[in-house]
Amino acid sequence: ENPLLTVEDLEVGFESFDGLAEVIDGVNLSIGKGEVVTIAGETGCGKSVTMKSILRLLNQPPARVSGEITFDGTELLSLSDREFERVKGQRMSLVFQDPMSSLNPTFTIGEQLTDTAQFGGDSDTGVVEFFRRRFSGERDEARERVLEMLREVQMPDPENIMDSYPSQLSGGMRQRALIAQALLNEPDLLIADEIGTALDVTIHDQILDLLKDLIENHDLSVLMITHNLGVARQVSDRVYVMYGGRIVETAPTEELFENPKHPYTQGLIASIPRLTGDEMATGIDGSIPEYLDPPPGCRFAPRCPYATAECEEARPEMYERGPQTGVECVLYDEAVPASERPTVEET
Ligand code: SF4
Ligand code: MG
Repeated sequence: ENPLLTVEDLEVGFESFDGLAEVIDGVNLSIGKGEVVTIAGETGCGKSVTMKSILRLLNQPPARVSGEITFDGTELLSLSDREFERVKGQRMSLVFQDPMSSLNPTFTIGEQLTDTAQFGGDSDTGVVEFFRRRFSGERDEARERVLEMLREVQMPDPENIMDSYPSQLSGGMRQRALIAQALLNEPDLLIADEIGTALDVTIHDQILDLLKDLIENHDLSVLMITHNLGVARQVSDRVYVMYGGRIVETAPTEELFENPKHPYTQGLIASIPRLTGDEMATGIDGSIPEYLDPPPGCRFAPRCPYATAECEEARPEMYERGPQTGVECVLYDEAVPASERPTVEET
């Protein structure tokens, strides 16, 4: 079966006075039907830029995007704006990390979500048609669907919530409202940006549990981006680890956590707060590369404890590459004995 979404050879640069910053440097990824995939990495690693490229939010200068992004057989970057909006409106939904800024403060939750239920999939309803439909019996049906969805996301007292403004809801309730909104038009692909990470840990866990149930019940494919590997572990089937504008490792979630291969992945996993004991591990020294003048070889070399001269010369190949796995690090060349590869202690 073909993947629902594939990204091939994605390159994104930003023109500036000082030159071209190569922020995404040859990214390849895919999401199978019904698969939940996370792109994980630090702030500035390029995960948001990857997401924005898929949504065609970077289709004008100073951004320069190249590569192929294929959604269910259709190449997205070459569609007209109107064709793209149709595909996006009918088949993709987004949930953002900041539910306050994603909801309109001047309309009730009921009005906003009912508009989405009624018009979310059509990008070009004319004004006359908009008002005709808004005051037709169709409105009541849409309202019913919203109520049903609010119940499904376990919103307390949904009838009351319909008449509330976003500012009257708690952060967790706003996040639930946004998730409900994202599912109203039965998307195939849900794109979730740092979902719940602005919330406190208990609420966050509840939101992730809810999300897992919804993914299953609605047979969603999901692309999630997060800087929090714990979130990736809780929700996803497979993880892409991104560093310096490149995917440096991918593996099924359990495998990635049990046997992380790339020195950067190992550092990230070691920096997750331990389940036992309350000390935070030290993390990884150094900072992400400068995109105007990135390291010429492996972009992690300046921070990598295993770096050799070879690493600084050329970009490493993707080794152990398969549909589900891969690691971009010279230590995984066949010539290197397994005993010389880095390992992390069990977390
Ligand atoms: Fe470290 Fe070299 Fe592997 Fe890069 S290629 S992660 S510098 S060992
Ligand atoms: Mg390049």
